[in-house]
Amino acid sequence: MGKHIGFICVKCKKEFDKEYGPLVCNTCGTDGILNVLYDYDALKRKITHRFFLDHSLPRNHWRYRPLLPVWETTPIPPLRVGNSPLYRHDKLAAHYGFRSLLVKDDGINPTASLKDRASSIGVAMAIQSGKKKITCSSTGNAASSLAGNAASAGLHSYIFVPGNAPEGKIAQCLIFGARVFVVDGTYEQAFDLSMECVQKFGMYNRNSGINPFLVEGKKTVSFELSEQLEWMIPDYIIMSVGDGCSIAAAYKGMQEFYQLGLIDRIPRFIGVQAEGASPIYKAWKTSQDIQYQKPATLADSIAVGTPRNWRKAIDAVRKSDGLFITVSDSDILKAMKELGRATGICAEPAGVTCYAGMQILAGQGFFSHSDQVALIISGNGLKDVASVVKAAGGYQKISPNIHEVEKRIE
Ligand SMILES: *Cc1c(COP(=O)(O)O)cnc(C)c1O
Ligand SMILES: [Zn+2]
Repeated sequence: MGKHIGFICVKCKKEFDKEYGPLVCNTCGTDGILNVLYDYDALKRKITHRFFLDHSLPRNHWRYRPLLPVWETTPIPPLRVGNSPLYRHDKLAAHYGFRSLLVKDDGINPTASLKDRASSIGVAMAIQSGKKKITCSSTGNAASSLAGNAASAGLHSYIFVPGNAPEGKIAQCLIFGARVFVVDGTYEQAFDLSMECVQKFGMYNRNSGINPFLVEGKKTVSFELSEQLEWMIPDYIIMSVGDGCSIAAAYKGMQEFYQLGLIDRIPRFIGVQAEGASPIYKAWKTSQDIQYQKPATLADSIAVGTPRNWRKAIDAVRKSDGLFITVSDSDILKAMKELGRATGICAEPAGVTCYAGMQILAGQGFFSHSDQVALIISGNGLKDVASVVKAAGGYQKISPNIHEVEKRIE
């Protein structure tokens, strides 16, 4: 199929060649998520620091196309994905006791979350395999991003969202013309319905818990970060974790650039989960398999009770000598407010869960004065206005009278 040379099952380590059709391991089933492999020796000759000096490369995540499974001839969805800004906040870092804080705002993607990196690849892979219909289940962002990217490429999307998804995300799906099924049930039930549509109607499956190509899109966040830092890799990358796909992808990105000799080390990955939805944290802590937890957090994008990519996520954290922590919903709300005030970035609850984790670790004296810490802000706050207003502490109306203003300014 694509330019990748094969797959490896993350559970039993069985390898498959590139012609292998199913999206998961034929021995392990849906527990056997695959990792996509490339011919790194061949790539190493082509993908050097000089490769990236070429001004004709697109200024979006398709500049990394040699490391993506999409053929050169496959039409790609036109929305501009990636090239998100990286802000440096050293004063803020000093406040938290380390050298440098890097904030990568992935909420500026076309549908306002990091999921666009995965969805654009999903849509391209659907086109590559001749499918016109594509489905996913999601707590919101994967859905809205699939809907947008599919619309831009003329594909039909069929979306299953649980009833508690914020209205902004459902609104996005609707305006992009997706068929939206708001399921009166959990994320897991929405997921099962979407999987049935894959079987029954032959739709392309954009469920990141199953489809190995979506990680390939998300890994570009690390490629970009490396380029933006001129190959000087930070000490830590902190990310919000729900299903585990994003952090696993960011790790894969770093690991591939390391393998190609573009960077000289891999940063330590810190995964932050919401206390009320932290099965990966618990599996990591106890070295046991994942156990279902009924999710209870306002960070809807990471409210995942049955993460599918937990093995890959734990692998990323272990191999990079990182860790997982959890934060409470009030930590998340506080982080939303503080990030907004300190950086001018408005993020949704899951978007700042990483920031909340950084604050807690800093409070414990975890970082040293020389550390450089990068955060990936994964989703924009305007998707979930209710939580943003709540985090900010609400507002009051006044009568149109300057004395009222005066009283409040003093
Ligand atoms: C999906 C998502 C995450 C977490 O990614 P996983 O792959 O589920 O771990 C974090 N933040 C936002 C805004 C997301 O949409
Ligand atoms: Zn397997």
